[in-house]
Amino acid sequence: MKLEKLNWDKKNNLLTFLLKDSEEGFVNAIRRLILEEVPVLAVEDVEIKENSSALYDEMIALRLGLSPIKTDLKSYTLKEKCKCEGEGCASCELILVLKGGKKGYVYATDADSKDSKCKFVHKMPIVKLISKQKVEMQLTAILGKGKEHAKWSPGWVWFHGWPEFKVTGKSDVKGCAEECKVLESRGGTLKIKDITKWNGACEQICEEHGIEVVNNDKNMVFNLESWGQLSCKEILDTSVDILLEKLDEFEGLL
Ligand SMILES: [Zn+2]
Repeated sequence: MKLEKLNWDKKNNLLTFLLKDSEEGFVNAIRRLILEEVPVLAVEDVEIKENSSALYDEMIALRLGLSPIKTDLKSYTLKEKCKCEGEGCASCELILVLKGGKKGYVYATDADSKDSKCKFVHKMPIVKLISKQKVEMQLTAILGKGKEHAKWSPGWVWFHGWPEFKVTGKSDVKGCAEECKVLESRGGTLKIKDITKWNGACEQICEEHGIEVVNNDKNMVFNLESWGQLSCKEILDTSVDILLEKLDEFEGLL
């Protein structure tokens, strides 16, 4: 197979590449490993010391759990695989402290982390305080997997075959390209200007103009959007390591 990078937006953590001469089963295995097995840090326990805000403790804990935390996979281990045997130590737990006592929003990024490499990624509002209200809590984040809870998913992945167009005498190629901004008409057929923007609506416009779209399932367009805990490269590298680990385990069982 061959890999062609189509778009790598590092600022927004988006990666799109074309995998030529591959197949759906392989690409889907990588997709499933990313969504379900690549571990990231997320808040699992919240110890509320003070909460006089309008939100219940549970609502604040839920919001914190879903806020992505920058994850350093070299420094942290899954709790069940840790030397402490699940007791909790610096290798399997990250402690953060969140305090707020001023009027206005308390953001996830206001939390102090014991590990300067691993902090909340986005300035997400957790709770809004009015005067004299206060919150103080200690958060414990652990590594986990997306198959246990979506808060431990590193991002979102989707893929599709490269679209090819079947143009006949009845097709209105120019009209189609005028309506769909992702396409352009060139030499009597359609060309894709930006594959990252290709979606179901484009396909529908093609059909309405008498053009059949066939997805080439040997050339897969793979899209990965990271929620920010890991870079796209780290997510892919880790998914491949997990796949190799699983194959080794399988081989050992034979
Ligand atoms: Zn431990």
